[in-house]
Amino acid sequence: MKESIKKYTFTNNFHDTQVTVIPKRGYLYERQIKRMQKELCGVAGCSCSGDTGIRGPQDWDVEITEDGNGYVFHTRYGLPVG
Ligand SMILES: [Zn+2]
Repeated sequence: MKESIKKYTFTNNFHDTQVTVIPKRGYLYERQIKRMQKELCGVAGCSCSGDTGIRGPQDWDVEITEDGNGYVFHTRYGLPVG
């Protein structure tokens, strides 16, 4: 069975930026987290957001946690935040 590829777009409403990521089996690689942070903020010393660079209301109710194996991506499909 072919797995459907789900893309998730996240935004940063401070820098007015966005990034799209594709979690692999519920995980995001560290390089994906770094890319998110770089594309959403990327400003050295900026404290607008956390590890992921996400800021403001998102289309996805998402939580990204570190579980020792990597960044676990939790989302409830289509449920808006706020
Ligand atoms: Zn920033």
